[in-house]
Amino acid sequence: MESMDAAKVLKRYFGYDAFRDQQEEVINHITSGHDTLVVMPTGGGKSVCYQIPAMMLEGMAIVVSPLIALMKDQVDALVTNGINAVALNSSLTPDEQRIVTQKILRGEIKLLYIAPERLMGDEGRLIELLSTLKISLIAIDEAHCVSMWGHDFRPEYLKLAKIREKLTRVPIIALTASADAQTRADILDKLNMPKAHISISSFNRANINYYIEQKRDAYTAIINYIVQHQGQSGIIYTLSRANAEMLAERLTADGFEAAYYHAGMDAASRNTVQEAFKKDKTNIIVATIAFGMGIDKPDVRYVIHYNLPKNIESYYQETGRAGRDGLPSDAILFYSYGDLMQLRRFAEVEGNPERTRIMLDKLMRMNAFCVSNICRRTMLLDYFGEKYPESNCGSCDVCLSRKTSFEATTIAQKALSAIVRTEERFGIHYLVDFLRGSRSEKIWKGHKQYKTYGIGADISRDKWMQYFQELIDQQYVKRIAEGSYPRLLITEKGKRVLQGTEQVYFTLSEERLMVENSNQIEYDSHLFDLLRSLRTRIAYRESLPPYMIMGDSTLQEMAAYLPVQIEDLKDISGFGEVKIGKYGPQFIEVIRQHVKDHALMTKMSSKRKSKSPPKPRTKTRPGINTSEQETLEIFQTGKSIGEIAAIRELSPNTIEGHLTECLAEGLISVEKFISPDKMQRIIQVRQENPDAKLTILKEALGDAYSYFEIRVTLTAMKRKEKESS
Ligand code: ADP
Ligand code: ZN
Repeated sequence: MESMDAAKVLKRYFGYDAFRDQQEEVINHITSGHDTLVVMPTGGGKSVCYQIPAMMLEGMAIVVSPLIALMKDQVDALVTNGINAVALNSSLTPDEQRIVTQKILRGEIKLLYIAPERLMGDEGRLIELLSTLKISLIAIDEAHCVSMWGHDFRPEYLKLAKIREKLTRVPIIALTASADAQTRADILDKLNMPKAHISISSFNRANINYYIEQKRDAYTAIINYIVQHQGQSGIIYTLSRANAEMLAERLTADGFEAAYYHAGMDAASRNTVQEAFKKDKTNIIVATIAFGMGIDKPDVRYVIHYNLPKNIESYYQETGRAGRDGLPSDAILFYSYGDLMQLRRFAEVEGNPERTRIMLDKLMRMNAFCVSNICRRTMLLDYFGEKYPESNCGSCDVCLSRKTSFEATTIAQKALSAIVRTEERFGIHYLVDFLRGSRSEKIWKGHKQYKTYGIGADISRDKWMQYFQELIDQQYVKRIAEGSYPRLLITEKGKRVLQGTEQVYFTLSEERLMVENSNQIEYDSHLFDLLRSLRTRIAYRESLPPYMIMGDSTLQEMAAYLPVQIEDLKDISGFGEVKIGKYGPQFIEVIRQHVKDHALMTKMSSKRKSKSPPKPRTKTRPGINTSEQETLEIFQTGKSIGEIAAIRELSPNTIEGHLTECLAEGLISVEKFISPDKMQRIIQVRQENPDAKLTILKEALGDAYSYFEIRVTLTAMKRKEKESS
């Protein structure tokens, strides 16, 4: 084993062809015996950094990890790749613990996962025992837990400082996704590794698309989005528990598989929801920020913020739960002024003005992030002290909107004179109220006498907020935060506007485009469905989450290149040796059948030659695919949608999608799904609102009509129109 180089281990056990940016460098440091601190964003691939050295070096690696749930997932994932890993924790029975200990003593284990209190506790007995064995390395995951500056301080981590004394000359690798310098310094200090090599990766999450929208009818916007993303996993964050419950219930009533999650639920219910999400049984989780810590689900395709997060750190962390597998994913935030006001009240920390000021300042930076017209990615990275090199990221709402600018000198003059009249002593909100002539008690009586008071009443509050941000971004105005609250000052540039010697232009963005995920390989989506349901069947049989059997990108590669021989799988990313042996034949069988049914040819030679993907069409032929065919056949035996979903181990939403396709192809009649009078009513409402979106129709029709009923009716109408034209 020791003679195997890192790249070979990566290929053999994980099935990956190449290392990601910093991985190889980190692995080299560890295997040559140096302490290393790895700072990498979520999804960056930290685990591989210690798992590969653990396989290359002699002896057993100790992996310290704070959460039992995550430990179990990591161990399960390693075992499915044929690696001898175990976890030692309180969830094992005494008998199981004895068995594990014996395996360790016999030298059969390559990676031991353990919680810090367990490792260092028991009056040092365990660590003494381990120090008599050959230990290859010590990995300390979530290392920021050692720092009081970090967001997740855990006192038991402090005990790890002693490890150095007990296990001399064993390299330590500390890993964290926490970006700030203070925490990093603290980790080196507390873990007693002053000379450690530090490796910091970029915090840019290139596969996440960032969108911020004004919160108007957010529910409608959410529905329109998830209808386009059926069968995919997503998280919707809300501010309050009540909101999470309400939203989840509303989505469920509208026919989507959603569940809520918050800290007010008992542990068992929380666990049930979490497991259902991991196993793809519930697609959508509506949750407070309590959700996420114990979840490493790599194929979360979207994270929606229904409310404004309280600071940029939280926003980055929560959106970061999307797309850990590297496939394109969306982060969508609905911005509202009302949320900002509510969070301002929450930010008051009683009896602690210093802390209150920090919290408010963080909130205001979050707000500025939302209302500004600067690339989201640039601003996010800037917050973490990193410079984004491109001027247009091509994957955030700002960069994707077609911007037009308009002459706004008069508007700017109004805003600037409001600042002058109130003697540069107020912040944006006061100024907006002043400009709009608010009757609020907060506006000083004296101020209400001024001519400037109310001169901006014709412009909405949202617009004014945006305009002030423009003034700040373009440096006509400067925001300072000394004293108890932030206020605005006029710059030299701003004075020129007031004097009438400089013109101002604001940008007006409109016509947002969606990201075209061009970096994604094109694949046969029908085959992808088939492979996906095979994966689900295997996962249920083995009681593992489907993503642990293999990732979506592995399925996509198979659906793009059509491997038909077992050996072909060696060239598919994500298939290590053990997985090829264990699951390969089943996948090959499905692909062969599909290739035969549709008279296709394998494209493996193009994969081997170029490493660049071929361009198969996503839709290979008109008509329905084999997966839809399978659904249709079961449907014709008289089974309900719910029953078909259970039989096929797919979600009811997916089955509904299949049946809608069958309907569009004229293979089933619409009467199977809806009564004639209901249909008539839908058609009537449709004719009254010819261009309305699905959600508008739903609103007009009321709760007695489901989205599915509306969809099938519209599909049937379309088919009729096509036939008669
Ligand atoms: P982190 O702990 O940094 O959040 P993980 O270690 O869980 O990230 O890795 C995220 C995902 O990326 C996992 O699905 C992992 O298998 C995958 N991955 C890691 N390294 C590579 C690589 N070199 N090539 C392809 N996929 C990788
Ligand atoms: Zn951008």
